[in-house]
Amino acid sequence: MTIQWFPGHMAKAKREVTEKLKFVDIVFELVDARLPISSRNPMLDQIIQQKPRIILLNKGDLADPKETARWQHYFQKQGYASLIVNAQQGKGIKNIVPEAKKVLAEKIAHRSARGLKPQAIRAMCIGIPNVGKSTIMNRLVKKNIAKTGNRPGVTKGQQWLKAGDELELLDTPGILWPKFEDAEIGRKLALTGAIKDNLLHMDDLAIYGLSFWQSFYPQNLTERYALSEQELDLPEAELLMKITEKRGLREDYERGSELIIQEIRSGKLGRFTLDRYQEMSVQSEK
Ligand code: GDP
Repeated sequence: MTIQWFPGHMAKAKREVTEKLKFVDIVFELVDARLPISSRNPMLDQIIQQKPRIILLNKGDLADPKETARWQHYFQKQGYASLIVNAQQGKGIKNIVPEAKKVLAEKIAHRSARGLKPQAIRAMCIGIPNVGKSTIMNRLVKKNIAKTGNRPGVTKGQQWLKAGDELELLDTPGILWPKFEDAEIGRKLALTGAIKDNLLHMDDLAIYGLSFWQSFYPQNLTERYALSEQELDLPEAELLMKITEKRGLREDYERGSELIIQEIRSGKLGRFTLDRYQEMSVQSEK
């Protein structure tokens, strides 16, 4: 489910997150490991400012592991704690509390020096729609909590969910928008299924995907669609036609495009990362 973000929605979402931040010790910022930069909210730094943070690279199972390691290192170099997780299968989740304790070590030591009892860490999850906030929260809390609608403004009072003895989570995540006014980011988000299909033409999206795979994951493309070397080097539009034909869809390029996009999203074309560290790490530091 994806919402349309209007300026009013954005202002409201920002206000709500700002309000909730007051109650927490730490923020768990979720990003999609396939899009560690493009799946971030462009204003997040400004919104959360100095609040301690852990960046969780979620959907690590779908991303290219080499790129994920580079991005994790990149965030760490910028001074953020960061962990690679797979909320769906619960991988890496057990590292979250120890990492939060490390990030908050000074505050925790300060309390203990004053003879105060240890307190549960209070945290909230923040991220764009579909990044896995509900799935991670369910994992941390170890039960099924209702998914909050992807709409800012559904929150009533604040409630805390107990996640073991050492962590309490705000019951509603902070939902913020991605930077979708950037066409390249929009395509990347659409290709991973983070934003609605009908915002883009399927054939444009499939062609974008094919061109990306030709550059970065040619082997996966060759294997999946039994392509010859010559076919692999076809211009993207012709490659789309070729695959459509190979899949018995004749000249139905719309269906051919849908099939390719579906296969990319479900991982049939292998694990992938659309935000390339080499190209983007310098750019995003500016
Ligand atoms: P939210 O909108 O941020 O709360 O996102 P959800 O928790 O509803 O997750 C969106 C979709 O991503 C769901 O279909 C989840 O099953 C899926 N998902 C969440 N985490 C992971 C993960 O680590 N790996 C994979 N493969 N899928 C995930």
